[in-house]
Amino acid sequence: MPKKYQLTYSFGAGKAQGRAEMRERLGGKGAGLHEMTRIGVPVPPGFTIPTEVCSYFSAHQKRYPKGLEKAVAVALKDVEKILGRVFGDPANPLLVSVRSGARDSMPGMMDTVLNLGLNDRTVDGLAARSKNPRFAFDSYRRFVQMYADVVLGIKSKDKSAADPLGQILDDKKLRRGVQEDSELTVADLRELVSEYKSEVRSRLGKDFPEDPYEQLWGAIGAVFGSWNNDRAIAYRELYRIPHQWGTAVNVQAMVFGNLGDRCATGVTFTRDPATGEKRPYGEFLVNAQGEDVVAGIRTPRSITELRQVMPKAFDQLRRICRLLEKHFREMQDIEFTIEDDHLWVLQTRTGKRTGFASLRIAVDLVTERIISRQEALLRVEPDQLNQLLRPIFDRKGKEIAQQEGRLLGRGLPAGPGAATGRLVFHAEDAVTWNNRGEHVILCRIETSPDDIRGMDAAQGILTARGGMTSHAALVARQMGKVCVAGCEAIQIDYTRRVLHVEQTELREGDWISIDGSTGAVFRGEIQTLPSEILQVLLLNRSRDGRQSNIYQYFSKLMKWADQTRKLGVRTNADQPDQAAIAKAFGSEGIGLCRTEHMFFQGDRIQAVREMILADDETGRRRALAKLLPMQRQDFKGILGIMGNLPVTIRTLDPPLHEFLPKTDAEIQELAQVMGVEVGTLSNKVNVLHEFNPMLGHRGCRLGISYPEITEMQAQAIFEAACELRREGQNPFPEIMIPLVGSRQELHEQRVIVDRVAAETMKRFGVKVRYSIGTMIELPRACMVADEIAEEAEFFSFGTNDLTQTCLGLSRDDAGRFLPSYVLHGLLPDDPFVSIDRDGVGALMRIAIAKGRRRRKGLEMGICGEHGGEPRSIEFCHRIGLDYVSCSPYRIAIAKLSAAQAALRK
Ligand code: ADP
Ligand code: MG
Ligand code: MG
Repeated sequence: MPKKYQLTYSFGAGKAQGRAEMRERLGGKGAGLHEMTRIGVPVPPGFTIPTEVCSYFSAHQKRYPKGLEKAVAVALKDVEKILGRVFGDPANPLLVSVRSGARDSMPGMMDTVLNLGLNDRTVDGLAARSKNPRFAFDSYRRFVQMYADVVLGIKSKDKSAADPLGQILDDKKLRRGVQEDSELTVADLRELVSEYKSEVRSRLGKDFPEDPYEQLWGAIGAVFGSWNNDRAIAYRELYRIPHQWGTAVNVQAMVFGNLGDRCATGVTFTRDPATGEKRPYGEFLVNAQGEDVVAGIRTPRSITELRQVMPKAFDQLRRICRLLEKHFREMQDIEFTIEDDHLWVLQTRTGKRTGFASLRIAVDLVTERIISRQEALLRVEPDQLNQLLRPIFDRKGKEIAQQEGRLLGRGLPAGPGAATGRLVFHAEDAVTWNNRGEHVILCRIETSPDDIRGMDAAQGILTARGGMTSHAALVARQMGKVCVAGCEAIQIDYTRRVLHVEQTELREGDWISIDGSTGAVFRGEIQTLPSEILQVLLLNRSRDGRQSNIYQYFSKLMKWADQTRKLGVRTNADQPDQAAIAKAFGSEGIGLCRTEHMFFQGDRIQAVREMILADDETGRRRALAKLLPMQRQDFKGILGIMGNLPVTIRTLDPPLHEFLPKTDAEIQELAQVMGVEVGTLSNKVNVLHEFNPMLGHRGCRLGISYPEITEMQAQAIFEAACELRREGQNPFPEIMIPLVGSRQELHEQRVIVDRVAAETMKRFGVKVRYSIGTMIELPRACMVADEIAEEAEFFSFGTNDLTQTCLGLSRDDAGRFLPSYVLHGLLPDDPFVSIDRDGVGALMRIAIAKGRRRRKGLEMGICGEHGGEPRSIEFCHRIGLDYVSCSPYRIAIAKLSAAQAALRK
């Protein structure tokens, strides 16, 4: 058992035993209920059973700790006292909800039971007290259906099989000729309850429990058990929530939004979770209960209409929104119920939001003096910034689609951005198609928690029913997916895999385009354009001559990040256009320029092949002479764009055979150019074959075997730099030698580069600032880093190769087993995604310590792909690197991650 804890924590009538800070113990929902009670928000009374009990329950074959039963009875008595009703009392029954609530919200993943405490006797009491038999039997009907599903597990595990009680309800409506549940009469509802119960008896071989206490313990056990249901486990895996946390259980007095037309239930956000705008946002349904809004059963009304329908409750809700936002200093997502014009708040939590909203809310809260700049920097998830760079539709393309009558309809703009892809109707199909490399739009009547993997795989999500706070909308916003929800014009047939909008039919695989910023849905493909931010940054284009709103927010946050971070941020760019993008994003240099990518352009590859296949040095030099002007041109372009910022240029790295002709036709063509026999040539090609090229003749080993290659590259770099120098610029090349494992290797290469540098500068009559260093990508290099440092002015960790060589793991072959390693916890993470801190990280620490000890001011960076991954960046900050280098489009992410790392220290 962990340290001592109470078995129940009560809240109600303005007093609470818990606090907001106790979310580990009370769960997010519980902690919120306690805190709201404390600050005077109207919350129905109840109590929380802490998460420790869930852990105990899981570890002890579903038994409870001693004393829990008694503690629950006592806590329930307190609730009875506050309300003057008694649990199980036929005359004046107390009804409760039993609600799950983990530390981090897992919307809809676990179970909740409402209206608990109803049976054939208490239902009459409820009917008499409320003077509303219809309401009493509606609640009873809902309770039996929910309890049978959640606690008794009446639905078959097979998802395609119909839900038996739902079927009984549908049959009843059909026979009565009604559309809505609300049109059923008291007699219908009474019949439904007994039909449900006999269905339970025949399917499960036992009676539906009548005893309220038996119901209560059944529900508590089911909520604890739901922590380990498949979809909750899948969700935790997706969002990295530890399995051992457990859920709390909240038992809370029911309030009723289904008592009539003065009643309602709804969800509201204190700000718009799609755009971040400060305005009333949310939805409600009159005369409805609980999940009705979220489940997408009826499409709800916008919260702004509540002002007309129930003005008093609306005003109170707005006041509470402001209070909660101030109190929690964060945008809130609030569940409420109105019972006879009386407002009750049932939940508050930090609202999930898109990247746009996240950025805007963080910056606005600073402007409103609610949070500091530092807090704002910590509030935005770095990866969410990707969404801001997501494409939008080409305006022309959209107009044409409209003129051609391809607008199918409009839904709610639930997740901004534009997505175009092929239509699929099932989550599993979205996954399979995506694995094949297809872009898909997942279209559902409404989504459920079972669909999350498919939603993750889709480019965009489209639903026919449900509102802005429906499951689809909520999850899409969190995942940063483009989403249009509740497009009611659409009729879906899952079995035939088609959808209809009036006369138009679309089949699985047809193209469809959705605009998550406006809600429009189009047939066919529409071209997409760079996002507003990219347009401002790269094309210097801004709407109406002004910079867009979102760009201003973005640049403000980036400015704060720049002022805060300690790590430098550079980019990996091989070509001038990439360098230009990086510069626009504020890159502080190039951390990796791979020279070999330049070899593939145009007809250069012929010259490269000639060089590789030459018989001797003379032949090689002849081919290299052809390459020299091309490389010089490339380097001049990149060095020119980067001005006086450092540009780290790596000498030739990959195994030579990667450049060789593969097909017979290619070999023939080359033989002709080189004037040799086809047979001789193909023999040579074969000789260059390597068993394990990753560990073969590559990196500096090439430059050591063929010094003239390094010589030519150095000459190209320094001629380019000298030309720029003559033109009045101040370029700063850093020459990086790859795959070094010993001091001597670096020394030999360095001598060549220094010699060529001196010769070239002399020839041009100018001086160019430069430095020479190495990539650290072999374990041996880390171990002898002190010796290597004598020859190197900088180290740059090549963590892709360092990971491969440290773990003895080939990235190209690891796909077969690595995912299952991560799944089963043999490795904490995919080491190619996030730095393996214990292994690779330890090597890096050794190299840093040894290197710095030998050479003061040795500059250190990282140029592996980890340089753009937030958790790896945090690690780089901690071990004291000078900079990270990442792809141009991840620069903003890297800057924010670096700022966060500096703040978290
Ligand atoms: P989830 O975590 O899936 O949102 P909740 O425990 O919040 O589950 O409950 C589901 C729905 O039931 C919510 O809409 C909530 O507001 C409603 N609900 C829960 N408890 C009560 C209650 N005591 N009275 C009225 N409605 C309730
Ligand atoms: Mg809820
Ligand atoms: Mg490498």
